[in-house]
Amino acid sequence: DDHDEHLEPRPPVVTVMGHVDHGKTSLLDALRQTDVVSGEAGGITQHIGAYQVQLKTGEKITFLDTPGHAAFSSMRARGANATDIVILVVAADDGVMPQTIEAIQHAKSAGAPIIVAVNKVDKHDAKPENVLTQLLQYDVQVEAMGGQTPAVNVSALKKTGLDELTATISALAEILELKANPDRDADGVVIESKLDKGRGPVATVLVRRGTLKRGDIVVAGAQWGRVKALNNERGQLVDTALPATPVEVLGLDGAPDPGDQFVVVDSEARAREITDYRVRTKRNKSGPTARPGTSLDQMLARLKEGGTAAGGGLKEATFLVKGDVQGSVEAITQSLEKLSTDEVRARVVLGAVGGISESDVQLAISAGTPIIAFNVRANKQARDLAEREGVEIRYYSIIYNLIDDVKNTLSGMLAPERRETFLGYAEILQVFNISKAGKVAGCRVSEGLVRRGSGVRLLRDNVVIHEGTLSTLKRFKDEVPEVKQGMECGMAFTNYQDIREGDQIECFQVELIERRLE
Ligand code: GDP
Ligand code: MG
Repeated sequence: DDHDEHLEPRPPVVTVMGHVDHGKTSLLDALRQTDVVSGEAGGITQHIGAYQVQLKTGEKITFLDTPGHAAFSSMRARGANATDIVILVVAADDGVMPQTIEAIQHAKSAGAPIIVAVNKVDKHDAKPENVLTQLLQYDVQVEAMGGQTPAVNVSALKKTGLDELTATISALAEILELKANPDRDADGVVIESKLDKGRGPVATVLVRRGTLKRGDIVVAGAQWGRVKALNNERGQLVDTALPATPVEVLGLDGAPDPGDQFVVVDSEARAREITDYRVRTKRNKSGPTARPGTSLDQMLARLKEGGTAAGGGLKEATFLVKGDVQGSVEAITQSLEKLSTDEVRARVVLGAVGGISESDVQLAISAGTPIIAFNVRANKQARDLAEREGVEIRYYSIIYNLIDDVKNTLSGMLAPERRETFLGYAEILQVFNISKAGKVAGCRVSEGLVRRGSGVRLLRDNVVIHEGTLSTLKRFKDEVPEVKQGMECGMAFTNYQDIREGDQIECFQVELIERRLE
């Protein structure tokens, strides 16, 4: 514990919560632009799960960029615990919805005060007053209703009300008298983690107290390492991170779980001792079991016929999950396992971060499970093996669709399917900096075709790092509608610049297919 005289003011840590589609992501994006140091230092471009802005007044605010859907509620619960203030986003045209209520409960149980951001007030059917009245039912009394909770009307789209919102955050932070001792060994919480092929395990941590330094020995969950490098949200190397600052940490020996605590220790021996113990306790918990049937439909058909439960009794639907970041893998695992009913238990035999390899497919074969791929792709060998052995790989980029699909199949419902049609891949050969257009990728279409107006994803090491649209598709100097396999072309993304040589661009189309009983 720290003595009062060592405590110094620190920035507030703010989490944005609310119902899906009410504008959390848009608001976080808009708030990024309230930062005044972006001009000279380069904008906040890296997605590291959190970022800090500096206001015109010099005050700083740290925003946790936790994902929005209900599937993430467990992470959000943790987010709320690392959080001083919760911004509750409620769309003025939609009002209080189930996840709004959930968010209120998280905030309350974490003891974090709420600021209501009534969003989308630009819409013609916006009814901000209704939102405030509805909130009364959930014990959130805004100031206009005689309560204590501040509420601000904003439009993330039109970027209105943002100054008032940040000023409200600062005012509340001042009342909360947030302090920490910067002069001690650091501790804090892991926000996000991933395995980066070039950089190894990368964890984004939020420093709670103390100062995290390059060279420190850190234990995070069951992982440890000497901090090789610290990166801020601008992609810049930094030597230290103060309380309430988010940074990417390089140098750990594996990817810790989001929500894990991290702490700086004084020796490698101590770090090993702690992590060895944690790894041992973790390993005792799980292990895959073998059984046949490798597509989702097959597996469920088998379950309907009478099941194949290993130890009699309960039927089991198993999955192998690969995802882009630890947080999504965890959220998917929990959501899938929550789908368990009295008759069928859903179990994830392996949940891991990274692209799908041959060994993942091997495991799926031996365990008799389909593979669920969230924002990751299979490499060539893995695809071939899966094809040969009839292992189904289901690709998703939206957790809600994934859960819905599995749920519908589990319950035997036949809802229309949102099917993605793969159009093609293009390899980025070279990246050009065009002063007006920004970064343009010189590509060769390596498979299928690319088409203007279709969806595109940017893949790095088989992991999806961006999804969006093309702002340009060119052959030589001309805009063209389509480019086929083997041809070269120039492509640029709308509002996205982080493209690199060696990345792949995936092109796809979405259609709704009515499913029928056979
Ligand atoms: P999230 O699911 O809460 O992260 O919501 P998003 O930020 O993805 O926004 C959902 C949709 O609402 C998107 O189509 C946004 O463009 C739109 N949206 C977000 N904020 C506003 C706003 O202030 N006004 C209007 N008109 N639309 C908005
Ligand atoms: Mg969102």
